[in-house]
This record gives sequence, C-alpha cells and structure tokens, in this order.
Amino acid sequence: MAAVSRLAKLSSISYLRRCLSSAVASESNPPYTSPFLPKPDYNLIHKDPKNGHVQWVFLGCPGVGKGTYASRLCNLLGVPHIATGDLVREELASSGPFSQQLSEIVNQGKLVSDELIVSLLSKRLQAGEAKGESGFILDGFPRTINQAEILEGVTDIDLVVNLKLREDVLLEKCLGRRICSECGGNFNLASINAKGENGNPGISMAPLLPPPQCMSKLFTRSDDTETVVKERLHIYNEKSRPVEEFYRSRGKLLEFDLPGGIPESWPKLLEALNLNDYEEKQSAAA
Ligand SMILES: [Zn+2]
Repeated sequence: MAAVSRLAKLSSISYLRRCLSSAVASESNPPYTSPFLPKPDYNLIHKDPKNGHVQWVFLGCPGVGKGTYASRLCNLLGVPHIATGDLVREELASSGPFSQQLSEIVNQGKLVSDELIVSLLSKRLQAGEAKGESGFILDGFPRTINQAEILEGVTDIDLVVNLKLREDVLLEKCLGRRICSECGGNFNLASINAKGENGNPGISMAPLLPPPQCMSKLFTRSDDTETVVKERLHIYNEKSRPVEEFYRSRGKLLEFDLPGGIPESWPKLLEALNLNDYEEKQSAAA
C-alpha cells in the first residue's frame, strides 16, 4: 500500500502534465493579453467553446457556490466539472490509499496537501482522458500558489472566475446546508436577508428546501459547524487570496460579486462571461 501511494506521488506531476497537455495539444492558444475591462470578449478567451476547449478555474471562499455555478456552466458548455472537493469526498467514502490520512485533515478543517490533491486530480484526469474528454472547469483547484504554479507548468488556464460573497452571508449560507441521507440531495435551509452596508446593496437568498419526503432525512456535514467554517475562511484568506493575485497579475481573473441566489446570479454570470446568447442558441437547438 505504501509503495503504491509513493508511486502515485512520484508519477502524479508527470501524469498531470500529460493529461493536461493532451487536452490542449490540438491548438496552441495565443497568450491572453486583454484584461476583462470594460467587457470580456468571449472569442478572445478561447477559440471554440462548442468543441469543449474551455480551460477554466473557479475560485472563491468555501461555500460560496463554486460547485453550483461551475457545474451549470459545464452542462452548458459540455465539459467536465472537476471538483477536488468531490474527489476528496469520494476518496474519503472509499477505502482507497489516501482515505485515512484525508479524514484526519478534513475533520480539523485543514487544507489537504498539494501532493495529495494532485494525486487525486491525476487519477480523475486519467479516467477522463480514457473517455476522450477535452477541456474542463476546475473547481477548488488551485488553492495555493504552489498548486497554481504546478498547474501553470502543465497547461494554459484561459480564464479564472473569482466568485465573491460577503463573509457574514457566506457563514449563514454554510450553516444552512443540509444533505439528504437517502437521495444525497443538497439543500439549504437558510433564508438570507442581509442589509446593505458600505454602499453595497443588500443580499437576499431564498432557501433551497427539500421535497417533503427528504425533510426528515436531512443531516449537516460534520465540517459545516461555525468553528470549522470560520477556520476554513481563515485558511482561505491566508493561502488562497494570493492565488487570486497570481491570476490577476496575468490578466486572467474575472471578479464576480454574487448579487444573490441562483435566480439573480446565473443570468448575470452568463452576461459577464458573454455567454447569454450562447445559452439561448443552445436551448433553441435542443
Ligand atoms: Zn432525499
């Protein structure tokens, strides 16, 4: 077992390199030089989104909704949504070589090491490559400068979307999260009505209530307590804020302030990505 995980660690970087470079091998993208002002030009970001040539990263505090928006965009664009958080949870639920080590780290609200994340990501990319996937949206990776540097060495990320939400709203949202023990559905019981402050508008977010049959089967993830959420935010500010700066300095960062829940935010996000027409065309074609 130890030999297997050592081997996985040793080969993981070159794995990642091969997997990711094969995804961009068909065309070399010109360096993306135009910052997102005044408005992003979708055609500059990547050449052919219809063929899945999207190499995006979603950044944002834990609980901000990266997974929700990334997976919606993936459905729209037909590319895989790769969430390292899911990879971690899948490994935790399995009896894989990293599960014991992971459960200790996660229960303390700490960050999983870069080596471990890269190993899990490599496994996922290898499986995707075997299925003929090209392009991706990464959710929850890179989380540190070290990871961002590893990623930059292996592929060109063409856009980084930074999702932002006020910290008090974020905390309320995290504490309202529930999962159904029977169907695995994700819900949120928090009904948020935060007043505007410092000249910023207030934020309202409707709860995402489960169907009646799930109501009695809801549970809270062990890491959605106030202490652990605050610890995650603290770690995010320390380790992941510099990742925003890393991409900002490369002109790849798109800042997006969530104006509310999904109904308010989704159309605005599509607009910011110049994808509002794209969604209409897709549904017309369907
Ligand atoms: Zn259910």
